[in-house]
Amino acid sequence: MSSAPSTSGWGSNSLYDLTPADLQAWLTLHAQPAYRAKQILEALYQKGQSDPSSWTTLPKSMRDALATEFPTPGLELIQQQTSADGTAKWLWKLPDGQSVETVMIPADGRRTVCVSTQVGCAYKCGFCASGMKGFFRDLTAGEIVQQVAHVDRHLKPDRVSNIVFMGMGEPLSNYDNLIRAIRVINSPDGLKIGARKITISTVGLIPKMERLAKEGLQLELAVSLHAPNDGIRGKLMPINKKYPMTRLLAACRAFVKATKRLITFEYILIDGLNDQPQHAEELAGRLKRILCKVNLIPCHPIPGTPWGRPPEERMLAFEKKLREKGIACTLRQSRGLDIEGACGQLRLHHEEELSS
Ligand code: SF4
Repeated sequence: MSSAPSTSGWGSNSLYDLTPADLQAWLTLHAQPAYRAKQILEALYQKGQSDPSSWTTLPKSMRDALATEFPTPGLELIQQQTSADGTAKWLWKLPDGQSVETVMIPADGRRTVCVSTQVGCAYKCGFCASGMKGFFRDLTAGEIVQQVAHVDRHLKPDRVSNIVFMGMGEPLSNYDNLIRAIRVINSPDGLKIGARKITISTVGLIPKMERLAKEGLQLELAVSLHAPNDGIRGKLMPINKKYPMTRLLAACRAFVKATKRLITFEYILIDGLNDQPQHAEELAGRLKRILCKVNLIPCHPIPGTPWGRPPEERMLAFEKKLREKGIACTLRQSRGLDIEGACGQLRLHHEEELSS
């Protein structure tokens, strides 16, 4: 669903929706030279100028046509927070009044942006604030791209170096807009972020994973596993009923075979639920023949859920056990704890304030 009906006849209201190929097609339709595409993309993504009327390298007639056909509704900043560790978080108001959030995590010389792809989420994972209020709508490609473009502008003279689609929403459920946005983000004339620096995180929507494997993009795929067996995964992730672990892991094997890319499994360590040595053993057994690494994430307690963070020594023991069993893994540090760093929390908080 798009946020507003298109006035351009181009299926879009926003220049940020257009891939470089779309822009070329628009210029051809308007009998304009192809090199103008580079100028437009440079203004949007290198100079950070979203208003065509300021693009004085273009003839006035073209500026007027672009401004009329693409009014480019923008994201409006509601709130920005910066954590003591440098993690920054933005809450945006969308043109239809909905809100989404974007997080930037600086670490080891990288500036990674965690991007939202939907308003709310239908998947209701038990450890996640984003799914608590249900699904509202897909973001347009332009709304996805704008999150990155805004943070990129904010960071100048530095640039965004990595993207993770791990914010609000299930990215593969908004597949077409996601891929369109990635084509802009990845383009040498767009935001110039290499495909290998872009990670898509999914609960494991198998048909979409199969489609993604055929896109010819060298993207990173992260699969939210969070359990060594269906019994535990079913408690945390309703999607496990539709795609149980045996099918999901077979799809992961097929993805690796088709793309020759390593897959990352995300595993939130939850106190007393999935953090015992036997869970590490079972997990290692199931992942044995998959080219993969495991990202262990300490549970970030969400108010209203029963799940808590295990003691440090238990998490370290889990990591050690996986390594002993030959599984590459890292234990991730929680970032931005002082600014409600878990996905969806800032938005939930904002909505509660509005309704109180
Ligand atoms: S973890 Fe991802 S898929 Fe699950 S509810 Fe949260 S946003 Fe949705």
